[in-house]
Amino acid sequence: MSFFRTARPFVIAGPCGAESREQVMTMAQALAGMNVQLMRAGVWKPRTKPGAFEGHGADALRWMQEARAQYGIPMATEVAESAHVELALQYGIDVLWIGARTTVNPFQVQRIADALKGTNIPVMVKNPVNPDVALWEGAIERLEKAGITDVAAIHRGFSGYTSPNGYRNQLNWPIPIELKRRRPSLPLFCDPSHITGNRERIAEVAQKALDMHFDGLIIESHPTPDTALSDAAQQITPARLAEILSALIVREEHTHDMSGAEQLEYLRQLMDTLDAEIIDLVARRMELSTQIGTVKQLCNMTAYQPARWREIVETRGARGGANGLSPEFVTELYARIHHESIRLQLAVLAQKATGNEVKG
Ligand code: PEP
Ligand code: MN
Repeated sequence: MSFFRTARPFVIAGPCGAESREQVMTMAQALAGMNVQLMRAGVWKPRTKPGAFEGHGADALRWMQEARAQYGIPMATEVAESAHVELALQYGIDVLWIGARTTVNPFQVQRIADALKGTNIPVMVKNPVNPDVALWEGAIERLEKAGITDVAAIHRGFSGYTSPNGYRNQLNWPIPIELKRRRPSLPLFCDPSHITGNRERIAEVAQKALDMHFDGLIIESHPTPDTALSDAAQQITPARLAEILSALIVREEHTHDMSGAEQLEYLRQLMDTLDAEIIDLVARRMELSTQIGTVKQLCNMTAYQPARWREIVETRGARGGANGLSPEFVTELYARIHHESIRLQLAVLAQKATGNEVKG
């Protein structure tokens, strides 16, 4: 059985970086007494700019080994190179993780996978910094091909110039959900610390992740967060961590409540019928688009017409709004429909153009 499935939610906590022997021992002692399955601590820290705290390397691995022996809590650290893998294994680290800045680079992931051949240590793979599900899945595949059977994925948010809800990184549920659709048995964890970058907002994202069927959480925790050498704003004390964990509501995918299950089944049947109607309507709309394409071709008009598209956005957005839908959602939906419509019309224009040439 996967180590990552030994608890639900599976909780990983610990400092962003291992800063001193004392800090590591204090954290291990605190976490060992809580419902936490694995302690995290970075010993090689990928920093955006040079000159910041870059971790204590092998010294910190020694502290982690000692803390594990004394308090019995398994340890995890980030590896970004094959030399890191060798040292982490040498110091008896239980679980490794690949960071967002490494997952993005297939050459680097392959070097790590090669260094892992012959071991079967559990590995967690953070999402790449850019929202690319194939790249994330590719890193997981490289590990599996190297013989690693216990792999988990971590959603830590995506880099962007801004984040809509003011978080440090963009929270983007569709990407991890697509990964889970492709790989239903992959344990999927959420990192609310790196997503939010803000200790006040960790609880809200942690609960949402559980409601989105995530299997576990990785939360940065430090004995004195304000003095942390990295990611100070997002770290929380063990006491606050205990509070957050005990307030979490763990929901199930299925229910044993018969009346609830029946009601759900009934509502889903209604929804299945509506979806069938929606698809039939969209197909009819596309047929109209093709006919319009023929008229545009005859009259020598462009497929894309900015004024018409503006009118669609305005009228459909307003109708959506009047029906309680978000106008942004309706605009996005129509952008996709319009895009398909234009694709069909471009095909009509191209076809007729070839036909004319043949005739001429
Ligand atoms: C970390 O976990 O401290 C870390 C560096 O995370 P990420 O790779 O998600 O930025
Ligand atoms: Mn961190």
